Amino acid sequence: MHPFSFTKAANTREALHAGRRGGRYIAGGTTLVDLMRETVERPETLVDISDLPLREVKVTERGGLRIGALVSMAEAAAHPKVRSLFPVVSEALELSASAQLRNMATIGGNIMQRTRCTYFRDVTADCNKREPGSGCAALHGFNRMHAIFPHADEVVIDWPHRYLERTTVDARTAVCVLTHDTKFDIPLLRLALTLPVGYIGAMGSRRTHDERLRLLTEAGVPEQQLARLHSPIGLDLGARTPEETAVSITAEIISCANRGTGLPLSQGTGPIHRPLVTHRAGGWMTKSVPTTAPAAGEAR
Ligand SMILES: Cc1cc2nc3c(=O)[nH]c(=O)nc-3n(C[C@H](O)[C@H](O)[C@H](O)COP(=O)(O)OP(=O)(O)OC[C@H]3O[C@@H](n4cnc5c(N)ncnc54)[C@H](O)[C@@H]3O)c2cc1C
Ligand code: SF4
Repeated sequence: MHPFSFTKAANTREALHAGRRGGRYIAGGTTLVDLMRETVERPETLVDISDLPLREVKVTERGGLRIGALVSMAEAAAHPKVRSLFPVVSEALELSASAQLRNMATIGGNIMQRTRCTYFRDVTADCNKREPGSGCAALHGFNRMHAIFPHADEVVIDWPHRYLERTTVDARTAVCVLTHDTKFDIPLLRLALTLPVGYIGAMGSRRTHDERLRLLTEAGVPEQQLARLHSPIGLDLGARTPEETAVSITAEIISCANRGTGLPLSQGTGPIHRPLVTHRAGGWMTKSVPTTAPAAGEAR
């Protein structure tokens, strides 16, 4: 363990002051101390916040709950208001960790804990989150419990626009922005719309879309560039699950690449196969090829 100093905050002001100077808050210590032992975390100063007035559970005027950061997981689970108003929260807490941990661990610490990925906690393993740029041991390691993109070719920890800036793109590149968060979306789309990529789509409701257009316009993106944006992203397949949404987005990308209509073939007339498309800078371009009828037995 690395040497560190220890201080106790007498009030919120002192705690905030210590935090601004790089101090690390310690509540139950059930995550932080483990990480310090493994040298994953190496804080210079630990700030004990256990004296702060953050142990209340209150019902808000709008019928919600305000749970103090120092309320333990066990206290929150057993609290009558949590049980009656949000039984699912109480049940989820009771199923977490173990009784000993739930008694020590706080709600604030639970929310603020670092990822529980095994490789993050093993300083001999590559982990982009712990050591940006080192790689991701989970990609080819034990990843059964990793919910997010287990088959991704690359996991990058960076601002999306910075990643795009240093990435080589061409007309075969499809940029899909799925964050719903303007602080990521706007700088990323601003850049993407100037690049010779084949497809740019962004996820979000129609309201999010309108707001996104407003912010992009404010940021100086001309109308001609905005017209390249597919937003809300995807074809209307009535998708609800993540898998169905992925199909709807992929369908739109294929449809754009091949200049399809996105409509059911049963509602159209004329040839099913279109001219082949070639990829050129500036978007997916159509190339005329002779249209010959498929020979008997050939796939349509
Ligand atoms: C064996 C084991 C099993 C577990 N199983 C589960 C599980 O099933 N589900 C689950 O959700 N979790 C699980 N956990 C994680 C556990 O819930 C967390 O360790 C705990 O909630 C962290 O709370 P703490 O008060 O001990 O935080 P600490 O370890 O004290 O702090 C954790 C982090 O939060 C920061 N922090 C703490 N309080 C504040 C605050 N008020 N403001 C700002 N930052 C703060 C600290 O600086 C630190 O970075 C498990 C942990 C262990 C060891
Ligand atoms: S980058 Fe990979 S190894 Fe690191 S926390 Fe994320 S999934 Fe785990």
